[in-house]
Amino acid sequence: MTERLFEKDAYCRSFSANVVFCEEKDGSFFVVLDKTAFFPEGGGQAPDKGTINGVNVLDVQEKDGIVYHKTEKAFNTGDAVCCELDWELRFERMQSHAGEHVVSGVVHSLFGYDNVGFHMSEKTMTVDFSGPLTADDIAKVELESNKAIYKNAPITASYPTKDELAATDYRSKIEPRDGIRLITIEGIDCCACCAPHPAFTGEIGVIKIIDFCPHKKGTRIEMVAGINAFLDYSALHTSVKQVMNLLSAKRDSIAMSVEKLQETANNLKSENGKMSRKLALASLSPVTVNGCAYAINENMSYDDLRECSNNLIENGTRKCILLSKSDENNYIYVVSSAENDVRNLVSELNSAFSGKGGGKDNYAQGKLSASSEDELKNFIEKLFA
Ligand SMILES: [Zn+2]
Repeated sequence: MTERLFEKDAYCRSFSANVVFCEEKDGSFFVVLDKTAFFPEGGGQAPDKGTINGVNVLDVQEKDGIVYHKTEKAFNTGDAVCCELDWELRFERMQSHAGEHVVSGVVHSLFGYDNVGFHMSEKTMTVDFSGPLTADDIAKVELESNKAIYKNAPITASYPTKDELAATDYRSKIEPRDGIRLITIEGIDCCACCAPHPAFTGEIGVIKIIDFCPHKKGTRIEMVAGINAFLDYSALHTSVKQVMNLLSAKRDSIAMSVEKLQETANNLKSENGKMSRKLALASLSPVTVNGCAYAINENMSYDDLRECSNNLIENGTRKCILLSKSDENNYIYVVSSAENDVRNLVSELNSAFSGKGGGKDNYAQGKLSASSEDELKNFIEKLFA
């Protein structure tokens, strides 16, 4: 069994050890030391990084109490080695992990829900709770979690016996047994956990819940803690500043400015649509066959074509097929009829020109492809003949 320095002292960032075993597998080396401060992957937390005698540790895994350090270089059994953790990364994870304990403890005490899933990615974490939470609940959880940080409550590890565990109120999915490691955050949380944590909640710095959504029968939250919460705020602040400059808006009136901008854009879009339909009507020169009409245009929208077809039907045209070329061989079309027999026309058009579309008895729209305008014209003239 490897002596686990990270359990006794979470702040151990460099240490000396002896190599007790090293084996090569698929070009990598798996080194076992008599003791280690490298935390192996577990409990939702990624493995530590760092060096052994200056050689990078690429992965750390535990099997049957033995911790294996994956490296690119071999070590000799009996070698005395100097090990160094990537402390910045480790401390960031300690902050995040402890932040998750605090939030889970607060949710448990406020709502009685359990933490039923935890995932720590590079910068953020997701935690799944067993019951529903509203936006107000989330705000309360966030506030109480940050207050727990200001209390600077001690975070301690203990190894109670099975009987002592039975008498303790703690969060865990594990069956009580001797040797379980309990992490207690005074007055806030008590939970079985194998990972390293800071000594006081003050070191977490800040907790922010950045998103939440219903998940199964409960709630999934996405949160950041510690330096990652600060970096998230920084990035958000930079982005908000850019938007403020673009809108010439103050920070508390961004939403109002965007609403105004949206209103202006919608008005312009509506004006533009009206102009476009007027232009379409003015430029339409339909070919008439047997009281029916067709036209092939360019750069018209469905709305433009519909306006033109309505106009034609209102003025006595029996049926009309209006098309607008959207690129090389592709067209959009509308078909309308005063005789409510559009479906047949559309199905003939679609099958002849690999078209897609449909609608009601008196109106339909869709898309089709044709190799030439003449091909389309000939086909429509036959349809109307
Ligand atoms: Zn933990």
